[in-house]
Amino acid sequence: MIIINILHIGIDDTDSPDGMCTTFLASQIINKFEYNGIEIIDYPRLIRLNPFARFKTRGNGAVGLKILNDGNGDLAKKIVLDAVEKLSMFDCDNTNPGVIFYEGEITKEMENYAFRAIYEFITIEEAEEFGNSVGCEIHKFKKGRGIIGSIAAISLPLSDCTFELLTYRASENYGAKRRIDYESVYKMDKETFPDTFENIDYSEDYIAIEPKTPCPVLYGIRSNTVEALKKAGDIVQVSEPVVDWCIFKTNQHTDMHIQKTTDISSMNQYGCYEVEGEVKNKPKIIDGGHMFFHIFDESGEIECGAYEPTKNFRKTVSYLRPGDIIKVYGGIGEQNTFNIEKFKVIKLNDIEYKNPICKCGKRMTSAGKNKGFKCKKCGNKIQENEKVPIKITRFLKNAQFYETPVSARRHLSKPLCRMNL
Ligand SMILES: [Zn+2]
Repeated sequence: MIIINILHIGIDDTDSPDGMCTTFLASQIINKFEYNGIEIIDYPRLIRLNPFARFKTRGNGAVGLKILNDGNGDLAKKIVLDAVEKLSMFDCDNTNPGVIFYEGEITKEMENYAFRAIYEFITIEEAEEFGNSVGCEIHKFKKGRGIIGSIAAISLPLSDCTFELLTYRASENYGAKRRIDYESVYKMDKETFPDTFENIDYSEDYIAIEPKTPCPVLYGIRSNTVEALKKAGDIVQVSEPVVDWCIFKTNQHTDMHIQKTTDISSMNQYGCYEVEGEVKNKPKIIDGGHMFFHIFDESGEIECGAYEPTKNFRKTVSYLRPGDIIKVYGGIGEQNTFNIEKFKVIKLNDIEYKNPICKCGKRMTSAGKNKGFKCKKCGNKIQENEKVPIKITRFLKNAQFYETPVSARRHLSKPLCRMNL
């Protein structure tokens, strides 16, 4: 029997809002591995954690690498630690890199840890204790918060996954306007969607493959397959140097952060869920353009929000009315409000109760509590107190999903184009 010895490498929290990107650091490491004949197994992984984690790094993405450990383990470790030492944004208070090395098979308890990092919060101390208990070699830089994501990045099972092609800029261009030919991006989207997705937000005329931060990434294309990424990368034209590129296997756009629950009251702050409920009140815009309403079930109720950055999605949400049964997907944030990423209409309330129509054709008005209705036109009065049900036409449709626009979508949110509807 041949024993294949595998070294898992996890890296996280090396970047800051002003620069770097853990994926770029990883691609530099991969180049050095290749140069030194270190064999990389599978695609590098880009793993997104709980989007509501309190001390998240930009984008909250950790990287995992797997190599064949045939005597090169120590060299590989040196290459990784040197790169993190040299390229991390140490000046930023919120950048606290962590690196872990692990030899052998990923265990069930490591998988469970990874899901906890996506569903909940794990402290640095907890991560360190867990890492030590399963035999990880741990390297903390500054506070070393990155070890939380590093362990998750190597451990998370990817029963569903997508791929992202990331291209990188020459360092002298960092911070300068990216020179991407937008026409070619439209062409790429036309020729490769839905195998690629999240390329363009047509409602906002927004090129989503282009980051808005001064990081080393020139553009990133997301896809279900590596083949589609290669095709897409050939179509997109840029007029600045691409110094490197790398394809990552990722949990982006898989809804892996979403836990199914049947009770509104069972949900916790900072968790992400899908839950069904009845709309309690008409959605209203307040506080700088954010839209809020409540849903309830037998167990309790919660405020739901469609925030200003979700743009036209708020218009869609505004069509909801009391009595509608919907299933919402999203997470509970700082204010204990459920941030909606998408919703499915389970059953629309298409009945409206109105005053009866008088025999003269005019809609009647109330004659006072329990005094029936009267007609202002002909003076007719009736003793009947019940309003009349009328079927109304709805903009929303039963069984239909509605999602936030690409420009406001979270990394982990599964777009409808991936849902086999
Ligand atoms: Zn009348």
